[in-house]
Amino acid sequence: KEVTPEKQQPAPEPASDVTISSRDRVIFPEAKATKGDLADYYAAIAPVMLPHMARRPISLVRCPQGRAKKCFFQKHDSGSFGDHVHHIPIREKDGGHEDYLYVDDADGILACVQMGTIEFHGWGSHAGALEKPDRMVFDLDPDEGLAFADVKKAAADIRRQLADIGLVSFAMLSGGKGVHVVVPLDPGHDWDAHKDFSKRFAEALSLAEPDRYVATMSKAKRKGKIFIDYLRNQRGSTAIMPYSARARENAPVAVPVGWDALADIESAGAWTIRDAAALLERAGSAELKGWGFAGQKLPAL
Ligand code: ATP
Ligand code: MN
Ligand code: MN
Repeated sequence: KEVTPEKQQPAPEPASDVTISSRDRVIFPEAKATKGDLADYYAAIAPVMLPHMARRPISLVRCPQGRAKKCFFQKHDSGSFGDHVHHIPIREKDGGHEDYLYVDDADGILACVQMGTIEFHGWGSHAGALEKPDRMVFDLDPDEGLAFADVKKAAADIRRQLADIGLVSFAMLSGGKGVHVVVPLDPGHDWDAHKDFSKRFAEALSLAEPDRYVATMSKAKRKGKIFIDYLRNQRGSTAIMPYSARARENAPVAVPVGWDALADIESAGAWTIRDAAALLERAGSAELKGWGFAGQKLPAL
């Protein structure tokens, strides 16, 4: 005698009460990946993404018609994100306040995806301790023509130099061209100390090896070199969050990697939104145990 499926099993809990509309809309034309594919990626990856992103003010790269059409960078609420996306007033340079966005659960991430978000960028501090950064990023930006091997070598160099001053650091593929070297820090110092430290660290590298590194933004001075972008570390700046998708060809994602594993990886876009299962497995492996967390104070330079 047949048993109806309803009687065999209780209805599954919905993973999220955020409804994703236009699931079939292609937003990555080269990869033929849809808004539904992106939402499924984020729903799957949220448990390992949230420990890095939850409660940080975020900026979004939204591409409602897909990555090949108009995209925009959004820092403030436009009033339409719904209850899962939270607001936090932040003092601006002019003394006024603006509402910024943060999320603290998978529904928050998915509500942003529903609004056409592809990329999540985050501050180096958390809501509740906005003026006390807890995460420093050295964003390695290679000049066109440099090989990914050069970027990996630079990241490993920076790791060693940070270790020389007692700092543990972690590597992340940006999903674009570069690698980010991430330094978790105990909150305590202010933004000025945070920026000053990263600036002087980057400048010291470029002074020691001027043929390899440059610490100024000027494109002209970047020829054949790696720009050590320390400017992610000033108040109000953001960097791409771990496991964020990128609005780039083939739907790559930003991926935390172990230092040993990095040596064998061939590009900063080695994983895409199709790889949620593989990324979850990596995230649970010894390679990534404790990635992005370390109790350590900003030393004097
Ligand atoms: P790649 O490896 O390709 O360099 P990336 O994420 O490091 O990838 P960058 O161009 O080096 O990209 O970094 C730019 C940073 O500036 C981003 O991390 C983002 O937080 C910020 N950003 C990007 N677009 C804007 C924008 N329109 N306005 C302000 N900040 C932006
Ligand atoms: Mn970069
Ligand atoms: Mn940069």
